[in-house]
Amino acid sequence: MARAPAIDDYVSPVRQQYLDIKRQHPQAIVFFRLGDFYETFDADAELVAGELDIVLTSRNVAKGTRVPMAGVPHHAAETYLARLIENGHHVAICEQVGAEPVNGLMPREVVRIVTPGTVVEPGLLPGDANNYLAAVVVEAGRAGLAYADVTTGEFAATQLDGMPALRAELQRLTPAEVLLPEPMVAEADAAGISAHKTPWTAWRFESGRCKEALLNHFKSQSLKAYGLADKPLAVQAAGALVQYLQESQPSTLKLLSSLHSYSTGEFMTLDGEARRNLELSEALRGGTRGSLLDVLDRCVTPMGRRLLRQWVSKPLLDLEKIRQRQAGVALLHAEGLPRAELRAALKPLGDLERLANRVLGGSAQPRDLLAMRETLEAIPPVIDLLSNLKSAITDLLDGLSPCTQEYTLLQTAIAAEPPAVLGHLGIIRPGFSQELDEVLGSTQTARDWIAGLEASERQRTGIKSLKVGFNKVHGYYLEVTKAKDSNLPAEYIRKQTLVNAERYITPQMKEVEAQVLNAEERILDVETRLFKQVCAQLAGSAEALLASARALATADGLASLAEVAALNGYTRPELEDSQLLELREGRHPVVERLLAGQARFVPNDASFEPGECVRLITGPNMSGKSTYLRQVALIVLMAQMGGFVPAAVARIGLVDRIFTRIGAQDEIHAGQSTFMVEMVETASILHHATPRSLLILDEIGRGTSTYDGLSIAWAVIEYIHNHPKLRARTLFATHYHELTQLAAQLPGVRNYNVAVSEADGRVVFLHKIIPGGADRSYGIHVGQLAGLPQPVLHRAQEILKELEDAARQAAPGTELLARQAALFPESSPLLQELKALDIEG
Ligand code: ATP
Repeated sequence: MARAPAIDDYVSPVRQQYLDIKRQHPQAIVFFRLGDFYETFDADAELVAGELDIVLTSRNVAKGTRVPMAGVPHHAAETYLARLIENGHHVAICEQVGAEPVNGLMPREVVRIVTPGTVVEPGLLPGDANNYLAAVVVEAGRAGLAYADVTTGEFAATQLDGMPALRAELQRLTPAEVLLPEPMVAEADAAGISAHKTPWTAWRFESGRCKEALLNHFKSQSLKAYGLADKPLAVQAAGALVQYLQESQPSTLKLLSSLHSYSTGEFMTLDGEARRNLELSEALRGGTRGSLLDVLDRCVTPMGRRLLRQWVSKPLLDLEKIRQRQAGVALLHAEGLPRAELRAALKPLGDLERLANRVLGGSAQPRDLLAMRETLEAIPPVIDLLSNLKSAITDLLDGLSPCTQEYTLLQTAIAAEPPAVLGHLGIIRPGFSQELDEVLGSTQTARDWIAGLEASERQRTGIKSLKVGFNKVHGYYLEVTKAKDSNLPAEYIRKQTLVNAERYITPQMKEVEAQVLNAEERILDVETRLFKQVCAQLAGSAEALLASARALATADGLASLAEVAALNGYTRPELEDSQLLELREGRHPVVERLLAGQARFVPNDASFEPGECVRLITGPNMSGKSTYLRQVALIVLMAQMGGFVPAAVARIGLVDRIFTRIGAQDEIHAGQSTFMVEMVETASILHHATPRSLLILDEIGRGTSTYDGLSIAWAVIEYIHNHPKLRARTLFATHYHELTQLAAQLPGVRNYNVAVSEADGRVVFLHKIIPGGADRSYGIHVGQLAGLPQPVLHRAQEILKELEDAARQAAPGTELLARQAALFPESSPLLQELKALDIEG
């Protein structure tokens, strides 16, 4: 990134040191520690000055040669780092190491490279979401993926079939950074992987090297125990990730104490489109508000919030696991008072997961230990409350311990109110260490003397306004207002003159001050050492602390789901291994809440009769078709998360994937027309859906001319209905009223429409889904609601009537049906074309 200026002549030693370091980190901005500042030079400085809006200066590096320089104070570095990382830069932090200069030069080295996926500073991290670093490799059509959150110690790897599956899994994880072999960048771009990418030399991903890196990291002989023996690509991804952390942030490696290999088959598959369309953790217009997560998240701890986000993005497929989680929610749902008590008891808990990891990673500050103490103190009441509940919940909370030993250590070692960060006195509680107490004791007299100085000098001089103060330049001083300075004792030595006052010192004061200040330095040394020891001791218990953190997160997540269920009147769904779908009086969890206080949400059934597979919903714009489609998908998803659902009755056969093809509002895919995107997505659904899937198809074919669109929609329904490998539960909303004729031909297709009331010439959408096809669109009515001018509305009515009359004359009675049926036999070329669409490309 930085171009070092060519300097053939002598360069200063510190400049040479900088250039050597920069050469090793050409891709990163080097933050070079000089005194109290991190300085950047050359092109780095120009870039940093521009992006951070700070002054660009220059520094003399050799005779007559100045180079650009821009610096930030080290104590404020976090904010600046945040901006650079957000903008996608990597920053190498180069610190002074060692206490003494060597040959007149302070030794310096890069202690860590901060990248979007490796930040640990609490201020740079989202509190309620994980910050993942991912690594990927693709070989022969298969992909390996590993990801880690270096602040919580989560580390997992999997192997996937091809690019689309990889993209879907990355969409679930939304990593802050994806590490990938250099040659793969273009392929990843083409596949629509949009996360921040860090290309790395390909040999880092070689399988032998990666396996070795993992074995060394885990000090293990085999990867079998990690479930990776038959997942070579997962090993490559995980091994590359470990090597990357070794280079950029070695201290975080300690946190990755185990590796969980998983298969995406354990969770319901949701691709990026489904996640986006169903607004799982983000609303379509951005932000959490208006998303499902926003409704479900009543967590009171940061680790609970992170876990709930994972639950929302990974609905389960294992009936046993779903029922187990559901039982926990049910128990807390039924017991209102214990639930309230539990949530109140969880509330004071800090982010134990991240605190434990900061201790383990060596970056903990006194404020972190204080937060940990307060958190551990709050655990026993939680345990008491939980132990009063039945085993349904306690089974889920394996690993929750009161951490008594750790709490006692923190209680005895850390002062009641320690300073926030290291480098200040008063971290360790008196009585914890004999050594510290002795140092404190030996200087007690001197400190008492200083403490009493103001009173004694006031008495001696008779000056009531005399003050004792301290500053870094002069140390302790006596301050006397100018009016009173005539009769001062002879030993007062003037040091500083202010506008209204004079400052003095005395020889005795300086003597005592030296004792105090020397002692302070020693106290600081001892306290820092003791603090590190306490951290090391706590690090030994990291596993227990993290297990407790996970259990507390689970308790919080379950309580949140129970609380939401109770507040919104959700019920417990029944799940089974079948293709059943029976929802009575279902509601949309988000729309229902948005409408609260303004309008009543009209509940709707979605109960598929035996043999029914495609539910075709016609109805006017704005009548609630999309809401209905989405609510069915969301209810299924909530049920498979283990939660309760907004329906009076819900019986659901497990759904392996939810597919969505929704609306034409959208698609900003570069270089593809809206219609092309719609077709690619439809093809993908037809290729990948199974009889266990749920298909949400909203307005397929809308992006093209009426007849093309209608033909495609018709063929798609036939295909879903007739293909033996499909027959998936499908909700299909459409404006093409012609499609309702399909119900007469295909036994599994049923017509529904949205009820409209037309009393006294007023059109009212009732939002009620009722059997039968719609006969009118009411599009002109919606135009009226939207405020189209009256003449336009009148004219539109006239044209509509003319068109309808013409159509009736052209195709009376059932002739239209017969002609359309003939248009789309099973062997229709259109159908064949659709089947053949290459969606992998
Ligand atoms: P379009 O065809 O124009 O996309 P649509 O038929 O899909 O329209 P929706 O977007 O689902 O209509 O709903 C329009 C509005 O109607 C929603 O924003 C909501 O305010 C209201 N609505 C939808 N369903 C219900 C319901 N069941 N109860 C009450 N209000 C509802």
